[in-house]
Amino acid sequence: MIPIAQPLLGADEYEAVLAVLTSGLMAQGEQVARFEKRFAELSQTEEAVAVSSGTAALHLALLAHDIGPGDEVITSPFSFAATANTILLVGAKPVFVDIEADTYNLDPALVERAITPRTKAIMPVHLYGNPADMGRLMPLAQAHGLVMIEDACQAHLASIDGKTVGSFGTGCFSFYPTKNMTTGEGGIVTTNDPEIAERVRLLRSHGQKQRYLHVAIGYNLRMTDIQGAIGNAQIKKLEGFNERRIQNAQYLNERLSEYVQTPVVRPGHRHVYHQYTIRARGDRDQWVKTLGERGIGTGIHYPRPIHKQPFYIEQGFDMSLPVAEAAAAEVICLPVHPALTNDDLERVAQEVIALCR
Ligand SMILES: *Cc1c(COP(=O)(O)O)cnc(C)c1O
Repeated sequence: MIPIAQPLLGADEYEAVLAVLTSGLMAQGEQVARFEKRFAELSQTEEAVAVSSGTAALHLALLAHDIGPGDEVITSPFSFAATANTILLVGAKPVFVDIEADTYNLDPALVERAITPRTKAIMPVHLYGNPADMGRLMPLAQAHGLVMIEDACQAHLASIDGKTVGSFGTGCFSFYPTKNMTTGEGGIVTTNDPEIAERVRLLRSHGQKQRYLHVAIGYNLRMTDIQGAIGNAQIKKLEGFNERRIQNAQYLNERLSEYVQTPVVRPGHRHVYHQYTIRARGDRDQWVKTLGERGIGTGIHYPRPIHKQPFYIEQGFDMSLPVAEAAAAEVICLPVHPALTNDDLERVAQEVIALCR
């Protein structure tokens, strides 16, 4: 079976974790500090603040920007539920606008139309590792005085004309095991604003400016040094992992583009292929079943847009967003991760082609 995702862990990670366990210092410490410094450098930002998950990163980024009751946040319905859940968790209202049919990212023209006097932020998702159209979204945010919070949980070191995602506004990343790099569970907030970084630091650790000096209310959403050590080992390999993903995607593009809709990447955009997503032709359930029987793992990201989730329907968010709904019905993700061999890739391509014939 060729899995849809596979974290690449080896001696570096094992030794790093053992060293932390041996030291006895397991909570947030030196390893996390080192990881933050390196992640900020790679992300081209002044600061990076590590937290316990990508969800925590989104949640604390919203709180750090004072987003709460009465505020609207424009976001994508075609994402993992965490994107919109965190907006609800701070008491604000997610305003879903439809996506572009080719990139699956927020449609800037529709974002512009959704702006109201209550809009406080735009939260685009760089879905599958493909940058959202920041060239059009940033001017909108600037013209209307809106906060930009990027859900970059799938897009480590993706970029636009060399500028990394997560450096346009406040960036939120995840290190869940299937992501382009992992710390087991983990996340990070990137920013060039020292005040936002300081607020996230306070929020992640009970508002403590120093030990037992509480200047704000906060949570415990810290990253452990065990996770930090895994992160320090993984981050050295991140660029290599991404290069492999991009090469694998190019191979699949060459083999599949005459049969199916392959990923669309805008000029100057660097897609880092957290997922390689195509549209199934015909019965998608049958594709998943047949590919599975032939030993090809697939993923559906996402089978149901957020505004059609039972909880969101209950809360009155049901509406018609036809492009996102069509994407949810048709997309299928194929293996693209760096552990694939050339033979694996060719098998994936052949089985997909067989389904199209
Ligand atoms: C993974 C992911 C998250 C949440 O990250 P966790 O680390 O699982 O909390 C949020 N948004 C998107 C788009 C993601 O892919």
